Amino acid sequence: MGITDKSKGLLIVLSGPSGAGKGTVCSALRNRLPDLTYSVSATTRQPREGEVNGVNYFFKSHAEFERMIEEGKLLEWAKYVNNYYGTPREFVEEKLEEGKDVLLEIEVQGARQVKEQFPQGVFIFLLPPSMQELRERIRNRGTETEESLHNRMKAAENELKQVEYYDYVVVNDVVEDACDRIRAILVAEHSRKDRF
Ligand code: 5GP
Repeated sequence: MGITDKSKGLLIVLSGPSGAGKGTVCSALRNRLPDLTYSVSATTRQPREGEVNGVNYFFKSHAEFERMIEEGKLLEWAKYVNNYYGTPREFVEEKLEEGKDVLLEIEVQGARQVKEQFPQGVFIFLLPPSMQELRERIRNRGTETEESLHNRMKAAENELKQVEYYDYVVVNDVVEDACDRIRAILVAEHSRKDRF
């Protein structure tokens, strides 16, 4: 805390159940907030159509991912619906040192690990307008099998219970409005008196 902190960037964690629209909100944020740095996660899940290695994720085998865990290369990691997901540590730490704000779009188990290491981080939970809407969004994505859909709905219900670990809740009814609210949160966080 104190005057030296101002030179460091903010670590922003965005979570929310599958179907809350995190991907859409993140793409919209990229256009709206080009100065924000987006962390690219590693995962063992298969690429979806159109996903590019190094852009959407670093796609890894199970063995490669487990090596990253052992070598301490991940800031946090979690198993989510039978696959590993994790945040490469070095990139995030370097950018924060450079004074850049860094956004992690991660699920709740990972967010809790980040909170232990960065209690001063900004934790934002994105909510769908309703559970019904959530189910429809996951289904309409069309990339999920029935089993994966069922598992994702179950994971989503559990994730919704974790909202208490977050500082802010943003309802994603209209993407542009959700982006406006996230931008307002960042402006407020940059104005906190303990950053001066
Ligand atoms: P998807 O397979 O839909 O891209 O992502 C599934 C879930 O994994 C989402 O909730 C997403 O936020 C989360 N996720 C993506 N990257 C990471 C990561 O690096 N760490 C953790 N803990 N979760 C992640």
